[in-house]
Amino acid sequence: MNVERSEQLMSPQGSFRVIPRAEHSISRKSISAGALRVLYRLHESGYQAFLVGGAVRDLLLTGHPKDFDIATNATPEEVRALFRNCRLIGRRFRLAHVVFGREIVEVATFRGSSDDGSGDRHQVDGRLIRDNVYGTLEEDAVRRDFTVNALYYDIADFSVRDSVGGMADLESKTLRLIGDPELRYREDPVRMLRAARLAAKLEFEIEADTAAPFATLGSLLSEAPPARLFDESLKLFLGGYGLKSFRMLERHGLLEHVFPATARVLAGGGAAHFRRLVEQTLASTDARVREDKPVTPAFLFAAMLWEPMRVTAQALADGGADVASAWTHAVDRVLREQAARVAIPRRFTLTIEEIWSLQPRFTQRTRKRAFKLLEHPRFRAAYDFLVLRAEGSPQLTELANWWTEAQQVGHDELAARLAAVPASADTTPLAPARKRPRRRRKPKPSGGAATSQESGD
Ligand code: ATP
Ligand code: MG
Repeated sequence: MNVERSEQLMSPQGSFRVIPRAEHSISRKSISAGALRVLYRLHESGYQAFLVGGAVRDLLLTGHPKDFDIATNATPEEVRALFRNCRLIGRRFRLAHVVFGREIVEVATFRGSSDDGSGDRHQVDGRLIRDNVYGTLEEDAVRRDFTVNALYYDIADFSVRDSVGGMADLESKTLRLIGDPELRYREDPVRMLRAARLAAKLEFEIEADTAAPFATLGSLLSEAPPARLFDESLKLFLGGYGLKSFRMLERHGLLEHVFPATARVLAGGGAAHFRRLVEQTLASTDARVREDKPVTPAFLFAAMLWEPMRVTAQALADGGADVASAWTHAVDRVLREQAARVAIPRRFTLTIEEIWSLQPRFTQRTRKRAFKLLEHPRFRAAYDFLVLRAEGSPQLTELANWWTEAQQVGHDELAARLAAVPASADTTPLAPARKRPRRRRKPKPSGGAATSQESGD
C-alpha cells in the first residue's frame, strides 16, 4: 500500500471532505419515501442521520439504488422508540428495520473502531463474529469495506461526507478496500467476493493492493459460513450481473473457493461446451432479471454443477458401477460437496436433481413416455435446460427443436411424429433410466479419449 494513503487512513478525520449540495448530484427526489421519512424523523428527534453505503454510491453513479441504508448515532433501541413499524434484527450486527409496506429501510448505529470494553465485539482468529461497538461517523466509515461504500449523505444540510477518499475513487471507477487489505479480508473473507461482485456490477477496476491478497487469502472463503456464501452467491449470480460476476470470480481465482467442482472442470481441457452452458445460463438469467421475470437459483446451480456431475458419473461407470447407480451417486456426491461450501437449501437441490434426471428422458421419444414427460411438473425447467445445453452442443439442436415443436403442435400431430422417430435417435448420454444390458465396461485403452457418449454437451 502506498504510504501517503495509509497515513490518510490512519487519521481519517484529517482528510474529511464535505461536498456541499451544489457540488454533487444527489437529489432528494431519488430517495425513497420510506428512507426520507426515517432520515427526517431521526434528524427532528435530535439524532444525526445519513444515507450511506450502496445507496449513496449508486445515487452518485446512476441515480437508482435498489435499497436505502441509513446510519445514525441513535442506538437500535432509540431507533425502535421512534418508529412503530420497527423491529430489531441481527446478532453479528444489531440493526433496526423500519417497514413501510413493501419497503424495508435498514438503520444501523455507527460502529466504533476500538473496543474499550464497554461494547460487544467478538473476534475468533481475526474473524469478526460479533460487532456491536458504537462510535462516530468517522469510526463507522473505516469499518466499512470499500471507499466508495463509505460515503454519507447528510439529511441536515444535504451534503456528502467523505473521510476515506471515496469520492475520488468513485470518479476514477476504482474499488479500493479501506485499511490494510490482508487484515480486512482476514476479518471477513466474504469481502473478497464482494469486491468481485461490485467491480462487475459497477464496472470498476479492483485496485492492485485490494486484489493482491486474493491469491493467498482466497482459501479463507472455505471457512466462511455456508449460509452466508449462499446469500452472497445469489447476489453474485442473480443480481442482474451474473455473467460479469462469474468472469470476475474466475479471473481473480476466487471461483475455485466457492464452486470448486465447477472451477476444476472449467480449468481442465475440453470444457468449451460446459463453459458455453454456464455462460449462456448466466446470460439468460441476467436478461430475465432485467425484464423483471422470476429466476431460480436451482436452474443456475443445475448448470454450474452439470458437468462436474457427469464427469463424476462417468468415472464411477468407468470404475464398473452400473449406469443408474453411477448417476445417483454422482448427483449425491456433487451436491453434497457443493453444499459443504454453499448451503443450497433442500428445496433447490431437489429441483436441481429433477432438472437433471429429466434430461435423459428427452431422448426417449416413445408415445407413452413423451406424453408423460410433457405433463411432468418440472418439464418447463428441464426443457429450458435442454435448450441451453443445445446452445453449447450442436448435436443436441435437433432434439431441442423437436421438443420445442412438440409443445406447439396438437396432440394428434405429436402422436404421428412420435411414431416416426427412429429408435436410433436415442443418443442419451450417461443416464439413470436408460435400459440397456448391464455389462461391465471393457477397460479403456490407456491414454484413450473419453467414450463417445461423453463427447456431447
Ligand atoms: P448492493 O448494491 O449489492 O446493495 P451494497 O454496497 O449496498 O451493495 P450491502 O450488502 O447492501 O451492499 O451493504 C451495505 C453497506 O454495508 C455497504 O455499502 C458497506 O458500506 C457495508 N458493508 C456490507 N458488507 C460489509 C462487509 N462485509 N464489511 C464491511 N462493510 C460492509
Ligand atoms: Mg445495499
